[in-house]
Amino acid sequence: MKFEILKDIIQNNKSYLLTTHVNPDADAIGSEIALYQVLKRLGKSVIIINHSETPYNLKFLDVDNVIEKYNEELHNTKIKNVDVLFALDFNRINRIVSMQKVFSESGGMKVCIDHHQDKNKFAEHYFIDTNYSATGEIIYDFIIQTGIVKLDKQIAYPIYAAIMTDTGSFRFERTTPQLHRKIADMLETGVDPGEVYDKLYDECKLSKLQLLGDALSTLKITGAGKICVMTITRESLDKFNAFESDTENFVNYTLSVENVVLGILFIELKDGFKISFRSKGNIPVNKLAGEFGGGGHTNASGARFFNLSMQEYIPIIIQKTEEYLLKFIKD
Ligand code: 5GP
Ligand code: MN
Repeated sequence: MKFEILKDIIQNNKSYLLTTHVNPDADAIGSEIALYQVLKRLGKSVIIINHSETPYNLKFLDVDNVIEKYNEELHNTKIKNVDVLFALDFNRINRIVSMQKVFSESGGMKVCIDHHQDKNKFAEHYFIDTNYSATGEIIYDFIIQTGIVKLDKQIAYPIYAAIMTDTGSFRFERTTPQLHRKIADMLETGVDPGEVYDKLYDECKLSKLQLLGDALSTLKITGAGKICVMTITRESLDKFNAFESDTENFVNYTLSVENVVLGILFIELKDGFKISFRSKGNIPVNKLAGEFGGGGHTNASGARFFNLSMQEYIPIIIQKTEEYLLKFIKD
């Protein structure tokens, strides 16, 4: 990655906007906070504005409470006049939903830092490599390779959280010896892995676990035992006063059923619905999501449908998924 170019961009400008995708995860928020710290240390003017509110279990990463939820009246002038706009942890402009228009119309330079496949053209500079476990790992490499600032706990902490979650707590494919060496470096700054894990996963609201109970009871097997489907209705979300962000990681339960190689989660939203796909091995679910206008990684992808009925589309999507999977199953 040409980090010297990124360093030049940062050194030669004054004001920055950082943003990330809808329903942000710890990689999204952690990358924003880490880059924010880098820029602040260099004396830059920085704002972080997101389409979505930060999920409650990620607020601990935003120690100084600097992340703002997008508001047209409050933010449009600022966004239009900023020198540089950073798109973090996404590479398709529709992932920022309500901020698409103002982001595109801004006169600032657009820079994308990400680790997903299938980017679309909306930025002047792309720092994308799908070999990275997380966007946070790219920011780590940038800091270490350019020496732009010193890595300390304040910066290492959100990066550690970003990598921990995007690697499924250090078990997914990109968990390599090299990655563990970088993690060791972060732990040496004083990051406490037990603390980060607790904050992310062991401080759930009771309602989230009750929602999980509901969701688990919907699990169904199809596709000759190889596909598992979970469904979360609005009714279920409302019953527990839960949000989309409370369903984080639920989809992984679909893959924990024996013989299943592809999992689907349907979530009914206020204005449509969302699907998440997960797979084992070399079944590229990003291509499957692509058939529905979504995207993602080989083993984790998703798509959103606006103003369409989930119940109507569930059988259609399951059938398409079964057909898709048949192409990859040899025995
Ligand atoms: P999740 O299922 O956790 O929401 O998303 C899994 C992966 O799929 C994420 O890495 C995300 O980038 C990608 N993804 C989820 N929803 C969408 C979508 O609507 N469009 C695109 N392009 N990617 C998505
Ligand atoms: Mn990520």
